[in-house]
Amino acid sequence: MALSGLDIYKLLPKTNCRQCGLATCLAFAMQLAKKALPIEKCPFVSAEAKDILEAQALPPIKPVILGTNEFRFELGNETVMFRHEEKFRNPTGVGFIIDDSLTDDEIILRLEKINQLKFERVGQLLAVNLVALKQNADGARFLQAAAILLKHTALPLMLISNDPAVLKQAAYLLKDRKPLLYSANRQNLKSLGELAKELDLPLVVSGQNIDQVSQLTQELNACGVKDLILDTGIKPLADKIWDLTQIRRQALKKLNRSLGYPVLAIVDQADPYQEAMEAAAYISKYAGIVLIKGLEAWEALSILTLRQNIYTDPQKPLQIDPKLYAIGTVNPSSPVLVTTNFSLSYYTVLGEVESSKVPAYILSVDTQGMSVLTAWAAEKFNAEAITKALTVSGVKETVGHKNLVIPGYVAMISGDLEDQSGFKIVVGPKEAAGLPAFLKNLH
Ligand code: SF4
Repeated sequence: MALSGLDIYKLLPKTNCRQCGLATCLAFAMQLAKKALPIEKCPFVSAEAKDILEAQALPPIKPVILGTNEFRFELGNETVMFRHEEKFRNPTGVGFIIDDSLTDDEIILRLEKINQLKFERVGQLLAVNLVALKQNADGARFLQAAAILLKHTALPLMLISNDPAVLKQAAYLLKDRKPLLYSANRQNLKSLGELAKELDLPLVVSGQNIDQVSQLTQELNACGVKDLILDTGIKPLADKIWDLTQIRRQALKKLNRSLGYPVLAIVDQADPYQEAMEAAAYISKYAGIVLIKGLEAWEALSILTLRQNIYTDPQKPLQIDPKLYAIGTVNPSSPVLVTTNFSLSYYTVLGEVESSKVPAYILSVDTQGMSVLTAWAAEKFNAEAITKALTVSGVKETVGHKNLVIPGYVAMISGDLEDQSGFKIVVGPKEAAGLPAFLKNLH
């Protein structure tokens, strides 16, 4: 657990000499606890106390970066057990296992599919993160397959092999892409630790349980290998969730440095629905990387959508710029629809307007990212706010009519809005799904 201000105070000289710029050592301790000042501001702190304070200032879950190019991504650096306490920081990396026993053409086809797994949702790009090559054939084939990966995908790479010699050759082949090596265990700890250190590569540490993994990370740390990913193997879902939760708890609540790393979860399900559900469970419960095999777009989109929702800052709803948006080939007669600047509200309306094929304007009102009914209840989507948005966005100068379509859920503001804005208010459907039919019949 992080040290409190009082814990830190006990480590300070307690002379209240003021050289740190604060009146007392206690005041300085409180600032240190908030990470508002560096320990160096006190010239009299002992070396021992400094070590303790510096160690506690490190992130409880070490950040680890995978990949080298524009697709590189960071794992770890999480600070809370529950999203509502603050937020989850680095989204789970979603990767795909490719078997080296496939033919060259099959591997290339899979890589092409993986490279295309990109989606836009509520204004954000959702993309997968990693390709893992698994050795099932001989060493020569693994190296051939690794060369195919090198050529056909720019995503970060992972090498999975039980043969340290083969893993070493493949690691040298891909070293400029900084592949993640899988995995160090009790038998190969020394050789893989040396390889990871030599090429400065991240390394997965595998044990059958948390204690074994903890022991191995301590030994690797002692050898100077720092960028680690933890793995307790493929297990039944409940057991794996238990491991993931206990590792997170040990890292955050007990400041157990030997478990303060991102955790890998490999899903081993033949049924794609089961695979998607298991991946979702691991993303929800602390996995740093989830590896699957299924390449279907529906499965990837489901998993990435869940990840997006979990890793959105709960204090800051996804928002778009509050302004007037022209959808399609609009003209001064095109209808104007009003909604909030909550991304999900806007993009839902946008999707329905686009599918209606009726060119229209969408006026997004600044509700600080609240949805329609929430914003109405908070008095941020009322007659005053919408009237102001009509003026600021230039609607009056852009269109040649004075009609405004409002969401059906806020029909009760029609009278006030008509009085204040001077626009004729048309009450639209309650649900955006009703917009295509509504727009086609609007005169
Ligand atoms: S400089 Fe150090 S000893 Fe002096 S008041 Fe600040 S914390 Fe206390």
